[in-house]
Amino acid sequence: MYGLSEEDLQIQARARGFADELIPFEEQAERSGGELKADVHAAHAERARELGLAATNMPKDLGGGGCTALQQVLVQEQMGRVTNALGWVATTPPSWLPAVATPDQIERYVRPAVAGEREECYAITEEGAGSDVDAIEATARPDGDGGYLLNGVKWHVTSYNAADFAFFQGKLPGGEHAMFLVDLPSPGVRVVRTPQYSHTIGHHHPIVAFEDVRVPAANLVGAEGDGMAFAYEWFRFERMMVAARCLGAAERLTAEMTAFASARVVGGQPISEYGLVAGMLADSLTELFAARAMVYETARGIDRGTDVKVSHAQCSMAKLYASEMAGRVADRAVQVFGGRGYMRENVAERFFRELRVERIWEGTSEIQRMIIARQLTKRGPAALA
Ligand SMILES: Cc1cc2nc3c(=O)[nH]c(=O)nc-3n(C[C@H](O)[C@H](O)[C@H](O)COP(=O)(O)OP(=O)(O)OC[C@H]3O[C@@H](n4cnc5c(N)ncnc54)[C@H](O)[C@@H]3O)c2cc1C
Repeated sequence: MYGLSEEDLQIQARARGFADELIPFEEQAERSGGELKADVHAAHAERARELGLAATNMPKDLGGGGCTALQQVLVQEQMGRVTNALGWVATTPPSWLPAVATPDQIERYVRPAVAGEREECYAITEEGAGSDVDAIEATARPDGDGGYLLNGVKWHVTSYNAADFAFFQGKLPGGEHAMFLVDLPSPGVRVVRTPQYSHTIGHHHPIVAFEDVRVPAANLVGAEGDGMAFAYEWFRFERMMVAARCLGAAERLTAEMTAFASARVVGGQPISEYGLVAGMLADSLTELFAARAMVYETARGIDRGTDVKVSHAQCSMAKLYASEMAGRVADRAVQVFGGRGYMRENVAERFFRELRVERIWEGTSEIQRMIIARQLTKRGPAALA
């Protein structure tokens, strides 16, 4: 199905097998704030690397998998079948970075990130700037010594607790955006607070203050004024990967609720035979099929070298549709499981909470719709779909 090559099927099977190895750890993670014991987590990360599932998005000459966009989707789809972000050990380091990094940055950041020795986090969003990244107030002022002084308070900095470097986006005195690499810990960087979120994962999203953080010019990414371009490129990639993980979540939920509905007898018959329940199963599978076809085709377009603006709109469509589809599937799954679906030990309950953010981060559903509509009015439907 889906015209996958032999190589595609192999990496898909490896990822599926690995996801099946992770699933038994979900409840333990749920009970312990998303954390597994350090040695267990390290073993999972090592296994992901051994299986060629980490850094699939990075070039081979830097130690990455050099996989096609479709293969990256196939891997992340399987990781999406696992709750509590246990699949994040199949890392996706910043694939936009090698093209713009200096040789020194490649050695200090890119190669170690690919090898799993370093981990990044993104400090872009602020209290007054989420959807509208241009509204950031963080500043990057030349320090008179060839370096920069960074200031700003960043929100929702995912994985800050696991990261040893951050991408910090700030505005130069002229108002242009610039992106910097900040080693962690660094003098002047501190956690303001670590709020609790709906999901239970080991990666936290603290509010982080950067106060007169001094970085050398060697830590500027690309040129001054390039900051926004990097964010857009990363959004395209991440939106497709969000969509891929949503496919995996929807598949797992559809499989689990179908198995339950076939076995659960109420009023003398399996609930799957009640039309109202059967409808929920059928709608979930149908929407999964549609979303998967869309996401795979979007990835294939990228592999064919589709115009970047067309791909940008298609990644938005894939993220919009797959995340909303997975949310509907999770809602139905809770319903099909009945009271059990409201228990944290149940996969539907965990996904019901975890999938909500897929409609918010990497650009909300409303922002995706704005992007799609803008391209639609410029190019017409035939160019995009
Ligand atoms: C768990 C989590 C992890 C995150 N991780 C990171 C991270 O690692 N690094 C990082 O920098 N950021 C991160 N974010 C931030 C995330 O990208 C933003 O939350 C998101 O882009 C939305 O911004 P906002 O929360 O400020 O909402 P707002 O921009 O204030 O939006 C509020 C509402 O208004 C709507 N809205 C806004 N503008 C428009 C418009 N033009 N048209 C129509 N509707 C609009 C939105 O869709 C939304 O419904 C994370 C967020 C969460 C929840």
